[in-house]
Amino acid sequence: MLDVRQRNVKNKKEIINSSKYIILNPKEYLGKWKSLFNNSNPIYIEIGMGKGDFILENAKRYPDINFIGIEKYDSIIALAIKKIEVLDIPNLKLIRMDALEINEVFSHEIDKVFLNFSDPWPKPRHAKRRLTSEVFLEKYDNIFKKDKIIEMKTDNRNLFEYSLVSFTNYGYIISEISLDLHHSDYPDNIMTEYERKFSLKNNCIYFVKVVKLQ
Ligand code: SAH
Repeated sequence: MLDVRQRNVKNKKEIINSSKYIILNPKEYLGKWKSLFNNSNPIYIEIGMGKGDFILENAKRYPDINFIGIEKYDSIIALAIKKIEVLDIPNLKLIRMDALEINEVFSHEIDKVFLNFSDPWPKPRHAKRRLTSEVFLEKYDNIFKKDKIIEMKTDNRNLFEYSLVSFTNYGYIISEISLDLHHSDYPDNIMTEYERKFSLKNNCIYFVKVVKLQ
């Protein structure tokens, strides 16, 4: 199977630099994302948005919420832009960056974080790279406006178990959970690219919403 990450998208730099959705200088908006959207609506971010199906569909469905998709790789975000650029969606922005830098970009202004099918980093010595490790949970603390809300979906059981422990050790409480999202009573689920692919293979999709009150 060809991993999208290894696919080289021609002209990816030009696609990124000329996109109306991309914020090229995100650090300049630290603490000021409200002004970029020109409203005080909640801001939800997806870290590792891939080709963007989930964040795009959310933005269309919930115009009174602002959405920001974050993706580390040029080639992948370029594919997302190709899909989105033809549309006009004022409540959607994209950032090409590594989530390690998230505290330089957001400060006390985010209402919810989505983590969908994050890289599992299965080797124990790489555990700190998982987006649900304590390293990242500490960073997320300072991006949230008030209550901290994270929603996670994955088909990777090991990553899911690890994340539940990591969240609860860090003071989050589980507010919703499903061990088989597609066969549970969860309304209005928006599918990601990986979710579509893995559910076609009949993998279970795990879902959890965790909350840490201020
Ligand atoms: N959310 C999408 C893609 C999942 S694959 C879906 O569900 O279909 C995980 C994605 O996270 C990849 O595109 C990868 O490039 C991105 N990613 C991994 N680590 C990241 C990081 N530290 N910062 C930003 N993006 C990251």
